[in-house]
Amino acid sequence: NAKQEPVGRVRVYTPRMGEQQQERKAIRGELRRAIDDGQFRLLYQPKIDIASGACVGMEALVRWDHPQRGRISPDQFIPVAERSGLIVPLGEWVMNEACRQNRAWRDAGLPPLKVAVNVSAVQFLCQDVVDMVERALDAAALPPQALEVEITESIIMTDGAKVMRLLDGLRGLGVSLAIDDFGTGYSSLSYLKRLRVNCLKIDQSFVREMLRNEDDVRITRAILNIARDFGLEVVAEGIETADHVDFFRAEGCHLGQGYFWGRPMEPTDFHRFVADSASTEGLRAVVA
Ligand code: C2E
Ligand code: MG
Ligand code: MG
Ligand code: MG
Repeated sequence: NAKQEPVGRVRVYTPRMGEQQQERKAIRGELRRAIDDGQFRLLYQPKIDIASGACVGMEALVRWDHPQRGRISPDQFIPVAERSGLIVPLGEWVMNEACRQNRAWRDAGLPPLKVAVNVSAVQFLCQDVVDMVERALDAAALPPQALEVEITESIIMTDGAKVMRLLDGLRGLGVSLAIDDFGTGYSSLSYLKRLRVNCLKIDQSFVREMLRNEDDVRITRAILNIARDFGLEVVAEGIETADHVDFFRAEGCHLGQGYFWGRPMEPTDFHRFVADSASTEGLRAVVA
């Protein structure tokens, strides 16, 4: 669900682009083997209740630990994986691993948290995502409430009927749906009345600029109003500063995600983060 390149626009060829194309070609060639070799990892970023600071869930974010190039970020390989169709086996690995890890944390005594997994529009077009998700939940013995699927608005513009059927299927399972990067797509808002999504995630580009740019404040307020009117949860992404926190608290936004509370973390670090924040919550409850 990385940003799409504009199609059919005339571009001037530059040597730098040549390098980028070489790079992409190299990545495409190595992706397949990387999946089989187990070179991918998931990091987890906490989702926070803004009022209390408690961790209420996490988003799984994939990384490629390449044996020669080191750690590669998803913006560099997800678009390539989407174009080559390899997003299907990769996305399936991500779903299984996120569910497996969630089960492991529950077994280790962490409170039951909902894990959010990004699913690409290409996966919806190429496979029965409902079946894939159901198998992952079963394999990890997780209830559907343990999972949120994040999709982008671009998905609505693809194959309307088929995608709607799959999204309904996911909701039928009892899995939550979130619209990621909300406000950055070009789709009409009318899908909100048809699609039973649970959550809108305000794109971090609005949050990043909002302390300088009044328009981004207006857009952010409009999104919060849409969420309120439709009875949806809303998560502010890219919260980096105390000013961001203050703004969203004052605007009545309940949930946030961002470097202010925690970067995407290795599983062991996330475990510690939740264990520590749970014990502080407990302390607060005792003191109060
Ligand atoms: P996303 O789903 O919108 O994820 C949020 C991105 O914002 C993550 O980047 C996260 O590290 C970053 N972020 C979180 N808090 C902050 C902050 O306070 N400031 C800033 N500047 N950034 C913040 P990441 O991990 O590099 O992922 C980029 C994108 O790659 C994701 O955007 C998502 O679209 C895609 N992606 C990641 N993992 C997967 C996956 O497993 N499957 C698919 N299909 N796409 C994935
Ligand atoms: Mg994104
Ligand atoms: Mg996401
Ligand atoms: Mg996002």
